[in-house]
Amino acid sequence: MNLSHGRPILAIPGPSMIPDRVLQAMHIPSPNIYEGELIDITYSISADLCRLARTEGRVGMYIGNGHAAWEASLVNTLAPGDRALVISTGRFALGWAEIARKLGVEVEILDFGTDRAADPVVLEARLRRADAAGIKAVLTTQTDTASSATNDIPALRAAIDAAGHDALFLVDGIASFGCEPFEMDAWGADVLVASCQKGLMTPAGMSFVFAGTRALEARKGLERVSPYFDWAPRFAPELFYQNFSGTPPTHHLFGLRTALDMIFEEGVEQVWARHAVLASAVWAAVDVWSETSQIACNIADPAQRSRAVTTVRAGQDHGARLRAWCEQKAGLTLGIGLGLDGAATPPGEGLFRIGHMGHLNAPSILGTIGTIDAGLKALGLAHGGGALRAASDVIAEALAA
Ligand SMILES: *Cc1c(COP(=O)(O)O)cnc(C)c1O
Repeated sequence: MNLSHGRPILAIPGPSMIPDRVLQAMHIPSPNIYEGELIDITYSISADLCRLARTEGRVGMYIGNGHAAWEASLVNTLAPGDRALVISTGRFALGWAEIARKLGVEVEILDFGTDRAADPVVLEARLRRADAAGIKAVLTTQTDTASSATNDIPALRAAIDAAGHDALFLVDGIASFGCEPFEMDAWGADVLVASCQKGLMTPAGMSFVFAGTRALEARKGLERVSPYFDWAPRFAPELFYQNFSGTPPTHHLFGLRTALDMIFEEGVEQVWARHAVLASAVWAAVDVWSETSQIACNIADPAQRSRAVTTVRAGQDHGARLRAWCEQKAGLTLGIGLGLDGAATPPGEGLFRIGHMGHLNAPSILGTIGTIDAGLKALGLAHGGGALRAASDVIAEALAA
């Protein structure tokens, strides 16, 4: 018996499900890249990305994935020999740190492990030490996609300020942008990094670096910047091609324009609220499964959990078995356990991740939870019963008149 032959659900934390409207917007012949609609669309996208990031600053758009934007953010703010403090709450800040290291930046990791958010008190104490004086930038993720921990960005900014430190504050919002609240200017982030294939519901291939005033100043002080990644011409293009240092990502731009239309039609606050409710429904289900088993959310404190992805510990090899069952038998693809192989955490096989970012609604999340529940039953894996009901209660309560 196999029940996977309908429309599949991709519940991995990026790429996320692409709306039909976005796909249809991309289903066009190659446009004129010298004049006409594409030019207008490109500038409207820059303006709307800044609106979504809540910044008066600039955005540079790159043809590349999140790693490209990681690199772009670094080459425009730091020079070889500069020092950066990287706040790690999982796997992704370490990836960013690795790129910084390869660019010659002297990196120090402030490691909070893989099961909680960063502690602003620890950050403040580190920045108060005399040897912190030379640190030029503090890097962190808003949401770490491996652990599903979400950092309190305003609290980390406040810690930098409380220490009287003038480091630039660079935030990786790749997993959270368009899913979780973010207010770049009000929160005092100097740089925000994002990409299009998660909350922005567009096929992977475009990424973004937002820069505020202090970051723009930092760029001016650099002797040499990689010409392709240099954000200066992208921020103030004299000719259209400078927006992308060459041919624009034509079809991505049409797709992204539509995705942004969908976000603003729904309302940004409403998009955030939808993610919050759907995440709560996932957590309610995991709580029920955990009642008679070792299943648990990787992040114990709900206040520190992402509203875009949930990492679940299932124990032994149960994560891998459940993922295989859901995909092969039922048409649901879950995320693999990623990079949490330290002694204190189960190996990847014991984990699975539920991506709940972007284009999803009540039936997509109830379908995901119900399918996982069926998988636990079919595989004979211990779990508390009634998870789907708990999730439906969360949704009913949120929508109660
Ligand atoms: C997905 C992700 C990345 C990497 O993005 P790619 O497009 O795969 O290069 C970086 N940081 C975070 C937080 C992510 O979720």
